Amino acid sequence: MFDFDTPVTYLTGIGPAKATVLQKEMGIFSANQLLNFFPHRYVDKSQFFKIRELVPNASEVQIKGVVVGIKEVQQKRGSRLVATFKDDTGTLELIWFRATKWLKSSIKINEPYVIYGKLNFFNGSFSMPHPEMELEEHYKKSLTTGLQALYPSTEKMSAKGFNHKVISKALEHLLKEAFPYIHETLSPEVLKELDLMSKKEALLNIHFPKSHELLAKAQKRLKFEEFFYIQMQLIRNKLIRKDKIKGYVFEHIGMYFNSFYQSGLKFDLTGAQKRVLKEIRADMATGAHMNRLLQGDVGAGKTIVALLTMLIALDNGFQTALLAPTEILATQHYQAITELLQGFGVTVQLLTGSTKTKVRREIHKTLEEGSLQILIGTHAILEDKVVFKNLGLAIIDEQHRFGVAQRSKMWMKNSLPPHILIMTATPIPRTLAMSAYGDLDVSVIDELPPGRKPVQTVHRFDSARLRVFKFMRDEIAKGRQVYVVYPLIEESEAMDYKDLQDGYESIQREFPLPDYRISIVHGKMKPDDKELEMQCFVKGETQIMVATTVIEVGVNVPNASVMIIESAERFGLSQLHQLRGRVGRGADQSYCILMSGVKLSNDSKTRLETMVRTSDGFEIAEVDLKLRGPGNLMGTQQSGVLNLKIADLVKDSKELHLARNTAVLVLQEDPNLALPKNKPIKQTYEQIHKRTSIWANIS
Ligand code: ADP
Ligand code: MG
Repeated sequence: MFDFDTPVTYLTGIGPAKATVLQKEMGIFSANQLLNFFPHRYVDKSQFFKIRELVPNASEVQIKGVVVGIKEVQQKRGSRLVATFKDDTGTLELIWFRATKWLKSSIKINEPYVIYGKLNFFNGSFSMPHPEMELEEHYKKSLTTGLQALYPSTEKMSAKGFNHKVISKALEHLLKEAFPYIHETLSPEVLKELDLMSKKEALLNIHFPKSHELLAKAQKRLKFEEFFYIQMQLIRNKLIRKDKIKGYVFEHIGMYFNSFYQSGLKFDLTGAQKRVLKEIRADMATGAHMNRLLQGDVGAGKTIVALLTMLIALDNGFQTALLAPTEILATQHYQAITELLQGFGVTVQLLTGSTKTKVRREIHKTLEEGSLQILIGTHAILEDKVVFKNLGLAIIDEQHRFGVAQRSKMWMKNSLPPHILIMTATPIPRTLAMSAYGDLDVSVIDELPPGRKPVQTVHRFDSARLRVFKFMRDEIAKGRQVYVVYPLIEESEAMDYKDLQDGYESIQREFPLPDYRISIVHGKMKPDDKELEMQCFVKGETQIMVATTVIEVGVNVPNASVMIIESAERFGLSQLHQLRGRVGRGADQSYCILMSGVKLSNDSKTRLETMVRTSDGFEIAEVDLKLRGPGNLMGTQQSGVLNLKIADLVKDSKELHLARNTAVLVLQEDPNLALPKNKPIKQTYEQIHKRTSIWANIS
């Protein structure tokens, strides 16, 4: 037997000192963890070079030969050791500057060695400084004869002489001892269907691959497994939630929905809107609690879907709430929705931080009585004083602005939790959605309403500012309106406000009264003043809106057709995409001008180029994911599911899809993993479950 929980201290090749470093630096405590400490890179040691074949600039090479002579050469500081290494085609010098005494006495003359290292080429001859050396007879017995694994390391580790050779040696001992006892973790059926390597072979070949082909198979198997168990968890969570958390049954489609659908809609819904609405309707009728993410690019038409969903709740005798992240947005939703619902006999109110006490009281009262049907607002809705008679549905716009805690707070107000629909215009790459939100249901509006003209996007350097001003004047002369947006990053807030003020002043000089009127909106203004400025722009009384990113989300002014983004290199991709989405909402051709300095980092360049190239939110999100990594996208860092050991969310999407589909099939056939063939899966699943508490429930 072998105990996989054996502390690393007791493993051959790792003493107490090394064990401490392994624990501190890599979090590796047990034999099992060491087995699952995967290399991040490999070097090819399957090939041998002859000395005559060596070429300058060849990278690292491996050569067989013997040391025929060795001498110490004195130099200014200390000495260096020079050995002459020979094979049947030529000679080469090996050079050491450190540990020369010890080496001189331990290197064996005229015995076959295998050496490995980087070549230097100087004055027509080759040398190899500090080669790795191993007697050929030892080399032949070791596992490292193909690709040499290199492991992640830290400065502290290398300082303690903890290099990949030490790790490889320890793993070699460990594998020799533990190999017969390594359990299979997938079912025979899954292994066979997907032609996956066994767990044993995969662990052996990930650490000591005999060939590129075997390495690829080992990686495929281990990546699949990693994704598979995450998906099993997410899908089971979803099933459990659906099973356990009851929800209101919205079985009727009644007067409110039907009459609005027939006479309130000013356009035909797109195919995608219809499909999504069907998904939502079906979900709310099952008796289980709905927890659904509605994704749709900027301008895809989420609002109307939200409104129709609310009307279904009303038809079933329930109240609904719509939460927006900012006052401006809540107000816009309120205005849009009251206008759309005019004449349909629905009561709608707006509740924000600046709602007057008198109105507030009235809202509280009518909510509790049940006569108020739709409440739209900001965080103010979540206050304890706000009590619904029967809240059946809560719609949350731009979910990442709201914490999970706040969301669940809404659940507590009634006997059953209201159905939840989260709308987001930040497209989440499919791979990320599958792993971070795999336990939510997702609906995607992947089609824009007809007749939209893509926004023309250009990148201009600051030196082109005068031409940009001229362009603004031309567009304004055509009756259009213009946004000019400045970055506002918390860390450099003071400087950013200065930039904004400077920019505002120079725009005032370029666009003087009485021909031009300018609005300004930024975070330091009082809500009332912001609202006033915003309204001037919405009504078309001002032609230019100078703002920080407060206008980022949701604001809808169809006549605004030019978006100028200052210091665009400082914005993230999703923000740029959101900002650009503020224009292109009317019938006119719209433009987005990305202004930047000339000095750009590679990432900034990629971001700006991506914006110029495409307006597809999902494509942009994919680039963003590649640039920033999954951990930084939309606060997903809390979700431990993204701490992947070997798989890569971006590069291994094929394995991810495969793993998800397989997990679905396995659970469909055997929800409790009770079948004998699924025993290895059940055991592994339970073990992972026991070991970790990282499976943060996102919903
Ligand atoms: P978002 O998804 O960004 O919230 P909105 O709901 O604000 O988008 O919709 C953007 C604009 O498109 C609105 O003016 C809306 O009236 C319009 N719209 C929505 N759906 C359609 C449709 N099916 N056909 C035509 N216009 C639509
Ligand atoms: Mg919207």
